[in-house]
Amino acid sequence: MLDFSDLSVVDVHCHPYIRKEKLSADDWVAEVSFGGGSAEYLQEGGIEVDDAVLAMLQRLKRDTLYFRYMLRRLAEYFQVEATVEAVVEARNRAIADEGYAVYAQRLHQASGIETLIVDDGHPLPQVDLGSFRAEVGVEVAPVFRIEVLIQQLLDEVSSWPEFQRAYDDGIAAALSDGGYKGLKSIIAYRTGLDIDPRSRSSAQGMIALEKIRRARGRGGDAIKNLRDHLFCRAIERCIEFDVPFQVHTGMGDWEVHLAACRPALLMELLRYPAYRACKFLLVHTGYPYHAEAGYIANVLPNIWCDLSEGLPFAGNAGARIIAEVLEMAPPSRVCYGSDTYGSPEPFYTSALLGKQALAQALQALINDGFMSAAQAQESAKMILSDNARELYGI
Ligand SMILES: [Zn+2]
Repeated sequence: MLDFSDLSVVDVHCHPYIRKEKLSADDWVAEVSFGGGSAEYLQEGGIEVDDAVLAMLQRLKRDTLYFRYMLRRLAEYFQVEATVEAVVEARNRAIADEGYAVYAQRLHQASGIETLIVDDGHPLPQVDLGSFRAEVGVEVAPVFRIEVLIQQLLDEVSSWPEFQRAYDDGIAAALSDGGYKGLKSIIAYRTGLDIDPRSRSSAQGMIALEKIRRARGRGGDAIKNLRDHLFCRAIERCIEFDVPFQVHTGMGDWEVHLAACRPALLMELLRYPAYRACKFLLVHTGYPYHAEAGYIANVLPNIWCDLSEGLPFAGNAGARIIAEVLEMAPPSRVCYGSDTYGSPEPFYTSALLGKQALAQALQALINDGFMSAAQAQESAKMILSDNARELYGI
């Protein structure tokens, strides 16, 4: 069986976190888990949240395969029983003994993580990257989420020429002096990925903004037209600055526009002649529509697939996702990512699971005669770090 535990890792998509030292078991679960909703989600819907409801939310989060896997890996790391209480107690004790930064650095080192490419558009308010860098103890390369800037401009700017200038300048400042290594968009969470490349016309942006202002924020189609235009403009800026554009595709948290997040919806835009020079990273490789992303990365030359979110949050699907993406995508177009956040433990868990899933998927390809052991080793190295290093020039 292949073993990639010694290989180094570049996490091509994840989020910075804020130091949280002593946590209760329930708070830690809320911080590191995926799914199950939150008390706020239910309260917004008029549901009264009592102790029984809180207990139900905890149970849902703790029941997922991802969470169970994380608990077992951390129990091995701390050499304690695989219960939430024992693991959280060991975590809190380790932080108290060695300090938060050393604790975080040890976990990242133990899983081979060398570089984190972070989207600091989540959480909000934005995490200070200087202090995050000091605490994680690994290289941090941020990408700039355009929706944070768009929201700020919608709140502050009313004339189109000023909006357009501030948008262009904001992106330029981030990419030139701000240290950002590329752009990121979550338009799949807002108005969906069915973006007509003709949205690049500045007139579309101008008319849309004017309609939004006239309707005092209730712009109907106008908000989609504006976001689509700004997305196209972001592609042009990526080409000018020669940086990649990360586009959220596939699942996310409960707010995602699940019916309009399929990678296939991007096809017309991706093959638009004026955009062919842009390097796109399809974040989450569109999971659960990952075969579409793999296909696109095969037929178009500048498309990369990022395995995050399916890895680790779809638990035991990791090897299957990798195998299905590799059905069409060349290994040189696939990157490891986690989409983890909140605390160092999910980053550690995801890197372990990613290496395990990759070993299973590539071993099956060797067994079935699709690659040699040496090619599998080379592919693993590319997927875990080399492809992302080349793409981001880091
Ligand atoms: Zn993310």
